[in-house]
Amino acid sequence: MPNKQQKFDAIIIGSGIGGLTVAAMLAKQNKRVLVLEQHFTPGGFTHGFERKGGKFHWDVGLHYVGEMGEGSPYRSLFNYMTNGKLKWQQMPDLFDKFVYPDFTFAVNADVNRFKADLIQQFPHEKAGINKYFKDIQSAATWFIFHCLFELFPTFLQPILKRIFRQFGKIATQTTQSYLDSNFQDLQLKALLASQWGDYGLTPAQSCFGIHGVVVTHYFSGGWYPVGGGSAIAPPMIETIERAGGKVMTQRRVTEIIIEAGVAIGVKVANAAHPVGGSGAFASAIASLRENREPDTYYAPKIVSDAGAFNTYLKLIPPSVSVPYRESIRDFAKGEPVFTLYLGLKESPTKLGFQGENHWIYETYDHEAIGQARSLAEPLCAGRRYANSMRIDSDNSPQFAYLSFPSLKNDSAQGHTAEIISSANYDSFGQWQGHTWRKRGNDYTDLKSQISDSLIKFVESHYPGFQDLIEYAELSTPLTIEHFNGSDRGSIYGIPCIPARLEQPWIGSKTPIKNLYLTGTDAFSPGIVGAMMGGVKTTILVGGWWGVVKMIFNIV
Ligand SMILES: Cc1cc2nc3c(=O)[nH]c(=O)nc-3n(C[C@H](O)[C@H](O)[C@H](O)COP(=O)(O)OP(=O)(O)OC[C@H]3O[C@@H](n4cnc5c(N)ncnc54)[C@H](O)[C@@H]3O)c2cc1C
Repeated sequence: MPNKQQKFDAIIIGSGIGGLTVAAMLAKQNKRVLVLEQHFTPGGFTHGFERKGGKFHWDVGLHYVGEMGEGSPYRSLFNYMTNGKLKWQQMPDLFDKFVYPDFTFAVNADVNRFKADLIQQFPHEKAGINKYFKDIQSAATWFIFHCLFELFPTFLQPILKRIFRQFGKIATQTTQSYLDSNFQDLQLKALLASQWGDYGLTPAQSCFGIHGVVVTHYFSGGWYPVGGGSAIAPPMIETIERAGGKVMTQRRVTEIIIEAGVAIGVKVANAAHPVGGSGAFASAIASLRENREPDTYYAPKIVSDAGAFNTYLKLIPPSVSVPYRESIRDFAKGEPVFTLYLGLKESPTKLGFQGENHWIYETYDHEAIGQARSLAEPLCAGRRYANSMRIDSDNSPQFAYLSFPSLKNDSAQGHTAEIISSANYDSFGQWQGHTWRKRGNDYTDLKSQISDSLIKFVESHYPGFQDLIEYAELSTPLTIEHFNGSDRGSIYGIPCIPARLEQPWIGSKTPIKNLYLTGTDAFSPGIVGAMMGGVKTTILVGGWWGVVKMIFNIV
């Protein structure tokens, strides 16, 4: 018989923003919720980390969030879940800069200015630009409705879907196909797709619906949480704990317990990350903790924020029949990234930076970047495995995203920067399964080479940048895989290609009674997308009445 400590009203697997949203909203309905997180820091991709005794602080997966103006529905939702403790500050008016070989375009936080600037630069495409601003809005609306479909009564869904599909022609095509049908100018087509890193798919891969969702999300500019991304989880955890719930870290769910087709609990193991120590002793302790008998917890509702791939293929026991396993296993994989975390000696304002994002492209051909996205590959090939792979003439990335967390965070002690670029998971195959921080000299060397080439790349666009650097640390797809548990270190969940829109396993509901998904794979990538996955799941778990009460509390 499970004791009281093992029983909760709901169990959430993973403490990303999707998981915390469900937990906090259920806590607001007086439910006792258990959140189990395998990392030693809660928050999923909203968490941050520090180095040099707290001097340098970085965000792992939050650089800017849209639609957070005073009174916006998403901000109100955050206020509700955090009891008003999470504050936001707006980024500079020119919050996104797209840097191309022969010009730079800055996106204005006023959408009318953004449009006017585009028309001024590409007057011959005026009609197409005007149409584009209408079409992305309708593509985004379609995509969001598509994600909310599960909320309709099941018997109505087939007919509604058939009607709804008629209106989806714009949203379900690829972004490239839309751009090719509506524009001639190659530079403009590239420019309009510049934020593809926000959803991790080049224009030929992404569905136009997700492009619309992301571009329109930033129509009134970018916001950043006061204190950084890591300021999000603590007040949400307070809400969960005030209702008697718990958030436990270093607790990895190893199995969802399913009896007679109904999810009733989870098995949990200690997830030891060798945080503080090294050497044989630390490894022995880690492995002792890892190998301890799993604990079990029980609840009438189980919600997974661990992603569709992990939930269906790793957490539901293979003995339980699930119709989708093959389709999930064979589905396109999301793309991983490198992130270079930099501690700076001086403020980057010295070079004119003000806290905006810089998307630096060496080419207008985003697909070429997608194909040559293996920065590690040429380096590996050239320096370590000379005969096995090609090498780029200059070993240089084709693209990098640059941001400055400290310029957006008034409480930052030291100045910081982050450079993100596309990665190829397969280049790291040989180190898969190796212990964190014990992957050997080859891995460390490769990381230094990648770090150097990313720094050189930024330096070539912003001379003087390199001299600002005091500290550098690179995260690879293996880092993400280790700390986040995501399949192949992917960062945006199941990729938003047109085929995703057809998959029955994308969404909150699962074929297992009382088991739900939340987060990115229940809705869409991004902080707000994953949070909306949480809202939808809460409605399905807690029922509409709880939500009606909640709406009265929010407005
Ligand atoms: C480099 C990077 C930059 C980004 N920049 C932005 C940005 O600027 N703006 C924006 O809106 N979005 C951004 N994103 C995307 C955004 O961070 C994510 O889409 C969102 O946070 C995902 O939330 P989630 O709840 O779906 O999942 P996650 O945050 O991935 O959380 C899942 C959690 O589940 C845990 N978990 C997995 N398996 C288990 C298990 N078996 N047992 C226990 N716990 C488990 C993981 O450790 C993790 O904590 C970025 C992401 C990255 C990586």
